[in-house]
Amino acid sequence: MPTILLVEDELTFAETLRYNLEREGYTVLTADDGVAGLELARRQQPNLIVLDIMLPRLDGFSICRILRQESDIPIIMLTARYDEVDRIAGLELGADDYIGKPFSLGEFLARVRAILRRSELQPRPLAREVLEAGALKVDTSSRRAWRNGSELSFPQKEFDLLTCLIRNHGIALSRDLLLERVWGLDFTGDSRTVDVHIRWLREKIEPDPSRPRYIQTVRGIGYRFEAPEG
Ligand code: CA
Repeated sequence: MPTILLVEDELTFAETLRYNLEREGYTVLTADDGVAGLELARRQQPNLIVLDIMLPRLDGFSICRILRQESDIPIIMLTARYDEVDRIAGLELGADDYIGKPFSLGEFLARVRAILRRSELQPRPLAREVLEAGALKVDTSSRRAWRNGSELSFPQKEFDLLTCLIRNHGIALSRDLLLERVWGLDFTGDSRTVDVHIRWLREKIEPDPSRPRYIQTVRGIGYRFEAPEG
């Protein structure tokens, strides 16, 4: 379950919120001043921060401004009065939502759920994948490839085929499997398509395409990628 950091100096109020959030199943961390709140946020990386504005030592606006330079943790700001100026300032500083006290617990919990759901749906940054084999380097995220530092250019299917081979290096891959992985299940061509693309790939990556070092033919099966030493 998500962890929520509650930064609020009115202790009775903070206890009420904590009790209700924990009843919903959330793990709740609390801080009763701004400096402690900022430190906890940095150390614990909660899934959501509920932040009061008027706080001892460091106010909620400052915490929000500092955190926004460091992370995208969702922030809901609270304030004692429903003040339009505070609301706009909070949102401009990057708060995700704003609730003016007094508010109903039902409304508060609904906002918490909505924000957590929204942040779960955010696409996470894609991991960068760089494959290296012998003199070859393939960056699958930018779809670029190099041999001995010189950039190679591949049509889409050749690039996909090379990536599939390198990712499964050392494993004999059947033509049918390569067809399925690279061309998809609904591809209507035959396995000679694979052989043709392998030939084109070899011409680009092999120092001597007639005596392949990277893409080995596995008789009766298909192909196996090997990273040559040196
Ligand atoms: Ca306060």
